[in-house]
Amino acid sequence: MSENKYFQYKTIVELAGEAVVIIQDEKIVYTNPKCSQLTGYTREEIMSTPFIEFIYHEDRDRVMKNFQNRIKGLPAEKEYDFRIVHKNGSIKWFHIRPVIIQWNGRPAVLDFLVDVTERKFLEEKLKQSLAILKATIDSTEDAILVIDKNANVLTYNKSFLKLWNLVDKDMQLDGKKLLNKIKHNLKDSQKFVVAIQEIHKNPNRVIKDTFELKDGRVFSRYSYPFKIDGKIYGRVWYSKDITESIKYEKELEKLASTDHLTGLFNRRKFMSILESFVEKNAVPFSLIMFDIDNFKSINDTYGHHTGDTILKEVSNRVSSLLDDRCIFSRWGGEEFMILFSGAKLGDGLFLAKLILKSINKIRYNSKYVSASFGITEFKKNETIFELLKRVDEAMYIAKTTGKNKVVAL
Ligand code: GH3
Ligand code: MG
Ligand code: MG
Repeated sequence: MSENKYFQYKTIVELAGEAVVIIQDEKIVYTNPKCSQLTGYTREEIMSTPFIEFIYHEDRDRVMKNFQNRIKGLPAEKEYDFRIVHKNGSIKWFHIRPVIIQWNGRPAVLDFLVDVTERKFLEEKLKQSLAILKATIDSTEDAILVIDKNANVLTYNKSFLKLWNLVDKDMQLDGKKLLNKIKHNLKDSQKFVVAIQEIHKNPNRVIKDTFELKDGRVFSRYSYPFKIDGKIYGRVWYSKDITESIKYEKELEKLASTDHLTGLFNRRKFMSILESFVEKNAVPFSLIMFDIDNFKSINDTYGHHTGDTILKEVSNRVSSLLDDRCIFSRWGGEEFMILFSGAKLGDGLFLAKLILKSINKIRYNSKYVSASFGITEFKKNETIFELLKRVDEAMYIAKTTGKNKVVAL
């Protein structure tokens, strides 16, 4: 190389934006000003110190092994990141691309070093953020799935796998295959598919509904789009196991609508059903009301327990006579009410007489139970008050004209 050219190259290297060093015999034999700028050490300090001493202790083995292998012509990493301790004690990340050159007739390593501290810092922060996000979504019992707008899976949590009986490997399946696996678990998969088609038609849509699995679990589902810079990027599916709360709600509803002694509907529930029949003018239907005779004296003579046993026996016997056209309830105390749907007065009267006969067979302390019945048929467009008043009147007549009989009005 001519001297002129040598100086030209030297000038380029001296002014380079990358730190440049040449290492031979584990010593730095050349360094440029950028290297001093990035490490804080002067050229003299750099050149008089074994290069390994500048390396952060955790990275020394790796860097040394690469250096020695490269010199010997053995496999070494083409480029990699490592840390240097700056003169001020701070740690800096460098990216390195070494090459073998001849220096004064012997092999040496020429290194180009780029300061990547800022990039590493951002990468670390991103890694941390992702780890926090993952830990957060994994810590919830609710199932979460995030997909992009082509239905590729972006992230999911363990609860999502548990919900659909899936394993991690399944999440690498394409959208269609994954959907098939999911559908397989559902009681009504069509409803699920329709919801997905809706989203295709209108990606802005937020969907909130419930679905039931074949194994009996019930989930609420919430699906909404997520946007980046105002543009739809994908969708978050969020599902919550509501099996227990639904069961609890049903139990509460049952408790609130049944009489605990007999297990029949209570007055409140019966009234709501009767109201709906009246509102709909669901003709024909008949109403049967009956009240056990002399019940107070049964209680007084034989005890409350005997009274309770009779109430349960009446409820059981009457229930066994009724089919699903009849709604049977404990109206209060020893009074009962039956809504007989589809029945005209004559059918109602027939049934009431049958019930009375059956009640008369109930024995207690060598006596028989009796009851008084009122029966009436609903008249189109009348109010619930008019209907109840008439059946009550019918029963009152039965009570006041000898009891143990059926009176129709
Ligand atoms: P009537 O023939 O006119 O119907 O007279 P009755 O004695 O049957 O009627 P009354 O209304 O005077 O008394 C009803 C009694 O029913 C009073 C109440 O203590 C009793 N009773 C109400 N609920 C229960 C219950 O759940 N168990 C028992 N054992 N008794 C009840
Ligand atoms: Mg009575
Ligand atoms: Mg009574």
